[in-house]
Amino acid sequence: MGKVLVLMVATLLPTMSVGTPLSCQRGTTVVQDGIHDYGPLLDKAPIIRVLLTNDAREVHLAINGSYQITGSLTNIIDQGQDLQKSVISVTNNGINIGTKHYDNSELRITSLRDGEIELNNIRYRGEIRILQQFNNKFLVINEIDLESFVAGVLGSEMIPSWNEDALRAQAVTARTYALYKKKARRDEVYHLDTLELAYRGIAGETARLNKIVQETKGVVMVYNWNIFPAYFHSTCGGHTEDAGHVFEKDSIPPLSGVACNYCNNSKYSRWSTNISKSDIEKRLREANIYVSNINTVKTINPGTGKHGAKVEIISAGGSKEMNANDFRLLVGPNYLLSTAFTSKNNGKSIAFSGKGWGHGVGLCQYGAQAMAEKGFKWLDILEYYYPKIELVRVY
Ligand SMILES: [Zn+2]
Repeated sequence: MGKVLVLMVATLLPTMSVGTPLSCQRGTTVVQDGIHDYGPLLDKAPIIRVLLTNDAREVHLAINGSYQITGSLTNIIDQGQDLQKSVISVTNNGINIGTKHYDNSELRITSLRDGEIELNNIRYRGEIRILQQFNNKFLVINEIDLESFVAGVLGSEMIPSWNEDALRAQAVTARTYALYKKKARRDEVYHLDTLELAYRGIAGETARLNKIVQETKGVVMVYNWNIFPAYFHSTCGGHTEDAGHVFEKDSIPPLSGVACNYCNNSKYSRWSTNISKSDIEKRLREANIYVSNINTVKTINPGTGKHGAKVEIISAGGSKEMNANDFRLLVGPNYLLSTAFTSKNNGKSIAFSGKGWGHGVGLCQYGAQAMAEKGFKWLDILEYYYPKIELVRVY
């Protein structure tokens, strides 16, 4: 037992070292309702650093109630009550909030009433950090406890009225993904960004969703006692995809893909769309990929779920290959819904027909909802989409 626990502490938790003497303080393993419970391995929900805006030149901030501002050190450099909507900007010498100038390259804004910091009309719990970049741009980061973050993600990622077991499965999935990213990027300025998953602060929360998050509090998935990136997506279209195939990284059994007969009723199960060639060319150009007069876009090496590993773009200038998921994200994930597509040249546009929405790896959200409606519980859903996982309560 002690050996297993030390191994787990070393691989699972983001901040503790191998030498952290936890094993002697813990009781025996209890497996309760399918969840390994060793007693709390973390004292409380860890803090996650979420990138809200990159390369910002201007954001709007408002605070309801009393607040304080610190710099890179913890000493308070300003405090006040009720900040009306103010523009944050950066000049070479520091950060401006409204008419006030702070001679700092970093500011940390803390509301003394949690959840009352409003940034570009979205309210956030936790703290807001402003970090100066080059050329008068700045980063905005939300530092928030993991449980509040999961609540915000849940209401943004799933339809709030969905079945409770689908929502519980999504809560565990989002928590696992975020905790993995915290470990993987522990020395970085931020752990994850809102391009990776939908997060709209308190706007995503409801009393029902907060209760569902609370019911799974501290529960994450592990494989071989390692936390892993528990990817998820809207609709797989019939079979989830191997993570190695999509992201060109080593895969593990929980991310290797399963048949999914549950998402047939998703409106994204089958789709077709026309995207103008000039739009595709413009979006690729923004990423310094230059093609003109596109003739053909085709997927190469489709996986079990038919998502292409790469795309080949044939244009007047020749042929270019790139990672298919990167192509989808550049064109726009809300335009080109998945990489499980065929296409044909339609003159000024390319006509795409495909299935599913998202990269296709991990939990299929529409599939999870259909499973829950059929009576499967959230543990069953997770074990279905992520084979060979175990569930562990870490706090
Ligand atoms: Zn599916």
